[in-house]
Amino acid sequence: MTTKTKLYLDCDNTLTNSTRAFCETYNIIYRYHKNFVPAQWELVQKWNFEDQCGCLNDSADVLEIFEDPILFQFLKLINTNTYEVIRELNEKYQIIIASIGTPKNLSLKSLYLKETLPFIKDYILLYNDGCKMNKEIIQMNYSDSIFIDDVTTNLDSSNAINKFIFGHLYPWSETNNYHRLWDWTDIANELL
Ligand SMILES: [Mg+2]
Repeated sequence: MTTKTKLYLDCDNTLTNSTRAFCETYNIIYRYHKNFVPAQWELVQKWNFEDQCGCLNDSADVLEIFEDPILFQFLKLINTNTYEVIRELNEKYQIIIASIGTPKNLSLKSLYLKETLPFIKDYILLYNDGCKMNKEIIQMNYSDSIFIDDVTTNLDSSNAINKFIFGHLYPWSETNNYHRLWDWTDIANELL
């Protein structure tokens, strides 16, 4: 039996468009709040959504939206070809989804992943000191291992052998240290 190369994939904003689902959920929950202005997910540039979701007071409000079942009803794969590419990748690699969240977020996320990508059998779900963006405690230094994530600090802290930054440029994904895969077409071209 040959062992497949391990491919570690981040979930939020790599596999799924979580920024979009977050803003759509915010727009429902906060719509009757004083000073509410609908959030536009395409314009989000702040990690804590403060630029588009002005009614949020603190990080607890942010985490609460990430724990809302409504968010998982809105949550979609990030590109139109993500499903098709990940299916093909699954033939060639051992895919391991590695995601950080609160216990409630992770429980809803795992059910979402099971339903959306039932052929993926491995998740590593991390609470990580209250959602610190660092994946150091995940062992990834297997031969040829690959890790794709949209957050620079997650890549910096990881001991994976081959690391790629995913997606469009955001303050949390600015780096020159990793080759950038802009979308799932890029992922397919690089890894299939
Ligand atoms: Mg992410």
